[in-house]
Amino acid sequence: MSTLAQRDHAVLWHPYTQMQTAPLAVPIVSGEGAWLVADDGTRYLDGISSWWVNLHGHAHPHIAERVSAQLRTLEHVLFAGFTHPAAVELAEQLLKILPSNQARVFYSDNGSTAVEVALKMVLQYFHNQGQPERRRFLCFRDSYHGDTFGAMSVSSRGAFTQPFWPLLFEVEFIDVPVPGREAEVLAQLDAALQQPAVAGFIFEPLLLGTAGMVAYSAEVLDELMRRCHQHGVLCIADEVMTGFGRTGPLFASSQLQEQPDIMCFSKGLTGGTLAMGLTTCAAPLYEAFLSDDKMKALFHGHSYTANPVACAAALASLELTRADACTQQRQRIAAAHAAFKAELEGQPGVRAVRHVGTVLAVEYDPGEGTSYFSRLRDAFYQLALDNHVILRPLGNVVYLLPPYCTTDAELALLYQVLRQMRELVLNFSPAPTLPEYLHD
Ligand code: PLP
Repeated sequence: MSTLAQRDHAVLWHPYTQMQTAPLAVPIVSGEGAWLVADDGTRYLDGISSWWVNLHGHAHPHIAERVSAQLRTLEHVLFAGFTHPAAVELAEQLLKILPSNQARVFYSDNGSTAVEVALKMVLQYFHNQGQPERRRFLCFRDSYHGDTFGAMSVSSRGAFTQPFWPLLFEVEFIDVPVPGREAEVLAQLDAALQQPAVAGFIFEPLLLGTAGMVAYSAEVLDELMRRCHQHGVLCIADEVMTGFGRTGPLFASSQLQEQPDIMCFSKGLTGGTLAMGLTTCAAPLYEAFLSDDKMKALFHGHSYTANPVACAAALASLELTRADACTQQRQRIAAAHAAFKAELEGQPGVRAVRHVGTVLAVEYDPGEGTSYFSRLRDAFYQLALDNHVILRPLGNVVYLLPPYCTTDAELALLYQVLRQMRELVLNFSPAPTLPEYLHD
């Protein structure tokens, strides 16, 4: 009888995984708090909230209870022509806490489709207004907005998208306005805005995740959005990673003066329980779709749109996120990250340490030849796993993005692994040179 990992290897194809060389998948059979438990009883601390989705710990009893009650009542209903209490309740609750201009909620299935919907809203908005030639998007050169075709088009032209480049639509890239580069990037934006075809600007507000947890200021984002708005360009805040408290406040956009026209959510939306995405928009945008003409309706929708069980999970997770206890947990993690940043910053082998809310990233300095696919990345990954910790390094950048329930003792274990990684870097020989497009 083969093990679960071997049976998996015989029939499954895992995402972002070179199946020939990757180690067998670790078979996880249960979870509790910040821990995941393998079939042989080994426990792993989930330092990245299972791809950034889990907010309150695994198999959370409050979410489980709400989900099972919903399952026994109504598991699904088509969402064109029909509605249900959980969908309405969730939309009402979200609109109370989102930036005040957000007026409508459109449900979808994951982060990439939340972004696809946002892009389609912008394109069809201008189409409905009689300006179909306005269809160009602006985005940050290093951004990641998902891996469906529209989302890939507005993302970095890096290793993840390379096989698909010829089919991606053209966009205007501007650099990320990291401290010291703000004026230069504002000038790049001004140049791009000279084109009359620009329709939308999509961005990860204040923190770019996949780019390596790269932060920039609310002031410069406000200025970028203000200039876009002056040219009638619609602004899309992709809060798929930053939403639901990750950067401190409930939404990164809550720290802005300027309000986005469209917002995208997923990941923490259901507390990591069920796949769901949503896109919200301001009233004028929605109103451009209202007409006697049926051709002006938004042409998008999937079979599982607004699944009631996912809505129930999102409502339960939102209750937990808005409780004072959760705010305190996030503040505690942020304070611990700040103290660890102060310890590690400036040490040999460390190029930079970045910290925003519950997110901490260490950019190690291995000298020449780092890339997302480097041996160093694999060594980091294995070192964490050997310490019973789950991390997914982005090349030479290793980040922590723990569930909010992670205790001080558990944080200490995560920091200990990051210290060991510094030792590893100091003794590491450079990776072989890779083709240019594979470099970070
Ligand atoms: N947008 C951002 C900012 C993301 O970080 C991600 C995923 O990492 C996505 C969109 C895509 O989300 P999903 O993986 O659920 O499709």
